[in-house]
Amino acid sequence: MIEKRDFYIDGKWVAPLEGREHQVINPSTEEPCTVISLGGPKDVDAAVAAAKAALPGWMATAPEERIALMEKLAEVYKSRTEDMAQAISTEMGAPIEMARSSQWGAGYSHLKNFIKAAKDFKFVKPLGDHAPNDRIIHEAVGVVAMITPWNWPMNQVMLKVGAAVAAGCTMVLKPSEESPLSAVIFAEMMDEAGFPAGVFNLVNGDGMTVGTALTGHEDVDMVSFTGSTRAGIAISKNAADTLKKVHLELGGKGANLVFADADDKAVKRGVLHMMNNTGQSCNAPSRMIVEASAYDQAVETAAEVANKVEVGPASEEGRHIGPVVNEAQWGKIQDLIQKGIDEGARLVAGGTGRPEHLNRGFYVKPTVFADVTSDMTIAREEIFGPVLAIMKFEDEDQAVEMANDTVYGLTNYVQSSDGARRNRLAAKLRSGMVEMNGESRGAGAPFGGMKRSGNGREGGVWGIEDFCEVKAVSGWS
Ligand code: NAD
Repeated sequence: MIEKRDFYIDGKWVAPLEGREHQVINPSTEEPCTVISLGGPKDVDAAVAAAKAALPGWMATAPEERIALMEKLAEVYKSRTEDMAQAISTEMGAPIEMARSSQWGAGYSHLKNFIKAAKDFKFVKPLGDHAPNDRIIHEAVGVVAMITPWNWPMNQVMLKVGAAVAAGCTMVLKPSEESPLSAVIFAEMMDEAGFPAGVFNLVNGDGMTVGTALTGHEDVDMVSFTGSTRAGIAISKNAADTLKKVHLELGGKGANLVFADADDKAVKRGVLHMMNNTGQSCNAPSRMIVEASAYDQAVETAAEVANKVEVGPASEEGRHIGPVVNEAQWGKIQDLIQKGIDEGARLVAGGTGRPEHLNRGFYVKPTVFADVTSDMTIAREEIFGPVLAIMKFEDEDQAVEMANDTVYGLTNYVQSSDGARRNRLAAKLRSGMVEMNGESRGAGAPFGGMKRSGNGREGGVWGIEDFCEVKAVSGWS
């Protein structure tokens, strides 16, 4: 069991004012790994009051002062790689090697990018030569409520906190009740880095109590939310009465368009990308849509690759995939696999139940369906597990139509050796990101979605802008 910590408010660790205890279950073993406190509205009031009190002083600091603290945070974050990796691995099931590299690493690289972006960021800019006395000022939006999911905990926390501190905002973080351990370690790091009291506050809690209290709070100026589309809609409605700014990073159902002229690693790459983090990524390429002439070979290759993906406990070293996060998610994935079978898709790898060698823990077989059609549930719903749906297209227009036939619009993928085609498709795909031929986005590129995948952008300079109000000033001297 990991030692229990309570909330971090106004620069101190404090006991909850109300709420209840909650056992965090290790998904690899189904055993409790810690007990945390889930707070209530009184804890939210205390944390928001601390953030509000700290705001004027923090907003007035020079950007260089904030950058110096971010640099200190990067040092502290690096010094605690192993603690952080162990916490993430234990609470949400990422295999320890992957927790040390991608899970920990995503947070680190976002922070480094924010430091760079903050150094280049112009908080005061001229409007243009036609209006020499006008300035456009980027100013901190104020007190921000941050609500995060469990699947890439430090990725999401850092995308918000790194940008918000650079912008001069103060904040209250409510992490997922599935991943509180990494958030507690993160709060310890903020403390050690020396951020002034009240700039960063942490309250653990569930969505309906602490989440609702934060998103409807009079003194919260902005909500920055990452999570499901369902919760994003509820949050938008709750925030509407106070007309606060709401930034949403939501679900996805990415299409991976594989043309017959794609390179010979494209299918394998697509399957492994889908299985990464046990399929629990909002930008997972969960629909592989393949050109008819390459379809049979792609199905065969995808099944072979999926059958070789190893599944095992998160505590074991190695490049396997771990369990999914909890029992509810395991059950939901089982139902969706069964639905795929019932609705007539062809199961070519995996299926329902646990892998044979694992009878305890929330493990799912790496699963591939072929002959999936756009009307099937597994082509429409975000499964959030290691389940790939393969579909067929006849020509480029149909490929685009199928890719865009979803309520989501986060990331789409294209595999083709034809550069002109890739550029055409980049314009036609309705998603915030398009990644082609296995090239991932460069450092500091904006991350975010269209349609019901959300609004706004996180990361780099776009991330800092999102935590700013834009003020037009005339008569500047
Ligand atoms: P979730 O929506 O259930 O929970 C996310 C967070 O929201 C948690 O902290 C939860 O306590 C809180 N919450 C839930 N309901 C709330 C409410 N009504 N008011 C306030 N807070 C509430 O999502 P999850 O299961 O933790 O995460 C998986 C989802 O997150 C997937 O849909 C995934 O695609 C999405 N996601 C999106 C991105 C992105 O950047 N677009 C990144 C990662 C995950």
